[in-house]
Amino acid sequence: MAMKVILWGIRGSLPAPLTPQQMDERLSRTLESFLVYQKSNSGGIREFMAQLPHHQKGGFGGHTACIQVLTSQANVIIDAGSGLRRLGDQLLLGPCGLGRGEVHIFFTHFHWDHLIGLPFFTPIFIRGNKIHFYSVQEDLEENVRGMFSKPRFPVPFEQLGAEVHFHRLKPRESFVMTDLKLSPYQLDHPDPCWGFRIENGGRIFSHCVDSECTRMSAAELGPDLPLYQNVDLMIFDAQYSFLEATERINWGHSSAPIGLDLALRERVKRILFIHHDPAATDAKIARIEEQTKEYYDSIQRAARKGHEPEFQVQWEFAREGMVIEV
Ligand SMILES: [Zn+2]
Ligand SMILES: [Zn+2]
Repeated sequence: MAMKVILWGIRGSLPAPLTPQQMDERLSRTLESFLVYQKSNSGGIREFMAQLPHHQKGGFGGHTACIQVLTSQANVIIDAGSGLRRLGDQLLLGPCGLGRGEVHIFFTHFHWDHLIGLPFFTPIFIRGNKIHFYSVQEDLEENVRGMFSKPRFPVPFEQLGAEVHFHRLKPRESFVMTDLKLSPYQLDHPDPCWGFRIENGGRIFSHCVDSECTRMSAAELGPDLPLYQNVDLMIFDAQYSFLEATERINWGHSSAPIGLDLALRERVKRILFIHHDPAATDAKIARIEEQTKEYYDSIQRAARKGHEPEFQVQWEFAREGMVIEV
């Protein structure tokens, strides 16, 4: 089985569900355009929906940071944002629901958007389950315990049903779990934050969120350069448009053109942009995606003009629920 990456939460900073008014508006516009579509097409509702752009139907998603990586032997979770709740419900259908599950959660850092799903992760309340937490940061246990403490949450850590274990990762040193090798590399964020390079059967997945990418050149990246090298799939922080990123210095987030520059230089094969700004509507994310396409096309044109080798990278703005085979 190929390595599988499932996106349970792609929003940055704060969950951002559609408001009922936005939903009504989108539904009205979709129904109106279906009436127009029907006049000149014989297709039904499914065909009509298939040709609509994402931002005019389901959108990009509102849950925060939570990514699952599956191999034939390993099942790991990166970050416990609000997307973790639904993933927990899914795990209950397997051994976790019987109190015989084992779960491995790796933290990039402890900002709220990467933690808030944890108190709603049902497998942690079930006796017999084992939950393992990992981070490079030394205050891992303190941060997890803090999520289960009054008056912020009614169930104290001591009353959790599952057995909980904490593991400290060494910076830039590989950690092997069954058929998967995980190595943490430092990102550029206001509080220490670590990206993960995950290898399985010769394929490489790289998780680069949250990062402002203030270090870009190979020399600046130094010991953290392997995070971007020979990668098959990279998940990259593109919270802002390029203009916003230039105005929000030290906010800790990046934009798609910066990811593309890195990907093209380091020969990354595929890049998915996530951690979308909670203030950005689906239409705005689609506009940023359009600007990114203009940027990417201009790079390709320049390469052709200068007779330089044209390297292609497959890229898109990620949506919640995507399942990618690496
Ligand atoms: Zn974040
Ligand atoms: Zn953060």
